Amino acid sequence: QAKNQGRNACRFHSESVYAQAFERLGLENSLRLAVERNEFELYYQPVFAADTGRVMAVEALLRWHHPEIGLMTPDHFLPLAEETGLIFPIGRLVLESACRQTRLWLDQGIAPPRVCLNLSARQFHASTLADEIAAALAESNLPAAMLEFDLPESCLTEKGPKTDSLFTSLKTLGIGIAIDDFGSGHSSFSLLRQMRTDTLKISQDLVRDPAGSSGNTEVIQAIVAVAHGLHIRVVAPGIETVEQLTSMIGYECDLLQGFLFSPPLPTEEMTAFLRQGIPPPALANRI
Ligand code: C2E
Repeated sequence: QAKNQGRNACRFHSESVYAQAFERLGLENSLRLAVERNEFELYYQPVFAADTGRVMAVEALLRWHHPEIGLMTPDHFLPLAEETGLIFPIGRLVLESACRQTRLWLDQGIAPPRVCLNLSARQFHASTLADEIAAALAESNLPAAMLEFDLPESCLTEKGPKTDSLFTSLKTLGIGIAIDDFGSGHSSFSLLRQMRTDTLKISQDLVRDPAGSSGNTEVIQAIVAVAHGLHIRVVAPGIETVEQLTSMIGYECDLLQGFLFSPPLPTEEMTAFLRQGIPPPALANRI
């Protein structure tokens, strides 16, 4: 009997491996179709100035309207997009769509100063990136300074001569560079200056537990002090509670973002929000 159980266990194991493989294949096929049909949409989350409560930027965040599953967030499909290379056509759709929308906001007189787009390390290292950005800017007739790219910390730490020239071409175009999730990996302060970074986003883990027992206070204080010394602005993302807001204002973060103020919004809602132009209630009584 034990033998049978063993055989069954093995059968179940291989079934689950097949199931996983089928699921992956299914998702990969749907993702390919999604690119062809452009089933993607950008949501936008506002980023506020800590001192005035004004919207200083919006971050574009990718969503996929999967025909059967419904609205999907990037964590569920970006790893596969990266693995299959589909991240490149997806990235182009994101870039074009964000530039078009920013142009519309400009024409309506409600554009935020900056629109932030995420790039993965793989996208950042693609040789065509600078040309694609320049083309999208030209097509929408957008000032380059309105775009800022959020790069993972690894783009700083794993850099080589090719990355140096890419940073240079982005800066030459006039594009802003932000380092995402700072303080989560092997952060390098000296590279921040060398790469002429404009913005630094503190890791959400640090923001979540700003007064944690593991010395988070000191880490955040150090990040803000060095960033300000280098004239780099600091964003505190992922603020969900009034306590976190109080801490981040106390640490002198320049920009604030999080569910406490607004979740990522579909374009129409973001447009209405920009048109209203009033600070969110959580900030209004502090300024
Ligand atoms: P990220 O760059 O760290 O973006 C912030 C994530 O935190 C977003 O998740 C956002 O919805 C979420 N968030 C914002 N405020 C709060 C808050 O107060 N609390 C909590 N718990 N979460 C908050 P989302 O939209 O699911 O995106 C996840 C990640 O996917 C992003 O992380 C980014 O790395 C990546 N991503 C999103 N859009 C793109 C894109 O167009 N291209 C690339 N390459 N990556 C993207």
